[in-house]
Amino acid sequence: MSKIPLVDLKASYQRHGPAIDAAMRDVIANTRFIQGQEVADLERAFAGFTGTRFAIGTGSGTAALHLALAALGVGPGDEVAVPAHTFVATAEPVSWLGATPRFVDVDEETGCLDPVSLKAVIDRVRVVLPVHLYGRPADLSAITAIAADAGVRVLEDAAQAHGAELVDLDGTTTRAGAYGAAGCFSFYPGKNLGAFGDAGIVTTDDAELADRIRMLRDHGRTTKYEHTTVGYAHRLDTLQAAVLGVKLTTLDADNVRRRDLAARYTDALWGLGDLLVPSGPSGLRSVFHLYVVRTRHRDALLRHLHASEVGAGVHYPIPLHLQPAFASLGYHRGDLPVTEAWADECLSLPLYPELTWQQQDRVVAAVRAYFDGVS
Ligand SMILES: *Cc1c(COP(=O)(O)O)cnc(C)c1O
Repeated sequence: MSKIPLVDLKASYQRHGPAIDAAMRDVIANTRFIQGQEVADLERAFAGFTGTRFAIGTGSGTAALHLALAALGVGPGDEVAVPAHTFVATAEPVSWLGATPRFVDVDEETGCLDPVSLKAVIDRVRVVLPVHLYGRPADLSAITAIAADAGVRVLEDAAQAHGAELVDLDGTTTRAGAYGAAGCFSFYPGKNLGAFGDAGIVTTDDAELADRIRMLRDHGRTTKYEHTTVGYAHRLDTLQAAVLGVKLTTLDADNVRRRDLAARYTDALWGLGDLLVPSGPSGLRSVFHLYVVRTRHRDALLRHLHASEVGAGVHYPIPLHLQPAFASLGYHRGDLPVTEAWADECLSLPLYPELTWQQQDRVVAAVRAYFDGVS
C-alpha cells in the first residue's frame, strides 16, 4: 500500500494539468512576466470570490501581511496583538516594521485568538491580527467589537482560510478577508488555493489602503520613474497568477469536498480515547485547510501513523512566544497556557480535495488501531 501524504500536490496538478500548462504557455509567449494581464485578472476574480472591492496580488502571504501592516501605519514603538498559536509568518512582518508582537493566548476549543485575552492587551496595541487557523474563522464579531471600542484596526491573517465564512445571526455571510480593515492570503503550494511557488494577496474594501498597498508592493512607485516612498519588491508573479486563475475556478467545489471529508473524519473518530475532534462550528463555515485533532498521546500517535504509512503533521509544535527568534521579548513557558496545550497536543491528519474515501478509511483505521492498543 502506498503512503498517504499529508497533502498531495501531484494529484492536484493532475486534475488541472492541461489548463494550467496552456495558461503558463500564454504568459511565456507574451513575456509579460511582471504585472501582466493575468495579475489584474486574478485580482478581480479573487476580490469577487472574497466579496471585497479590491485585491492586490503580492509575492507571498508573508509579503501580504508586511504590506498591509505597513499600509495601516504600523511602525517603531507600536505593538500588534498576535495569537501565539500560528505560523511564524504572522508575527515576522511586525518585527520587520520595527514594531513588537504582543502574543495573546488562544481559545481552548478553536485554537484561534481568544477575545477575553485580547481584551487585557487591547489598550496597548495599534492593530489586532487574528488568524483563521486551520481554515476556521476566528471569532471576528467579538474581536472586532473589542477592537472598535479601543479604536484599533483589525487585520485578518486569512492565509489558511480562502472562502471560509462567518455567518451573522441574521444569516448574512461574510467571507474571511472581507471582515476586517484588510485580509491577507497565502498561495503557498499546500494552501487551499496554491501556486507553483510563492504568492499571496491582500483584500480590502478601503480604496485608500488598496492604493497604498499597490504602491508599496512596487518600489513605492507612483509613476514609472517616480518613487513617492521607500517601498518593497513584493509583486505577484504573472506566471503564478496564471496558475492561480485556473485553480480558483474549482476552489469553492474543493472547499465543499474538504468539508465533506472533515465531517466524515469527525463521525468516525468522535469519542476515541481522549481524542478531541474539531468542535462543531456554529455561526461559521470552516474550509478545513487542516483537519486537526488533539490528544495527550500526540507524539506516540504520530509515530504510530508514520509507521502505518499515514502522513500526519503538527501545526504548530512550538508556540511563537517560546520561539528562540522571539526570546528577546521575554516570554516564558506558562505565560500562555492554552496555546502551550495546543502546541503539545495537536495533530493534523491528511486532508485535501483529492483524498479518496478509501484512503481516508485507512487513516481512520490507523488512528483506531492506536487507541485500541492504548486502552
Ligand atoms: C502560510 C501562512 C502564512 C505565510 O504565507 P506564505 O505565503 O508562506 O508567506 C502566514 N500565516 C499563516 C497562518 C500561514 O499559514
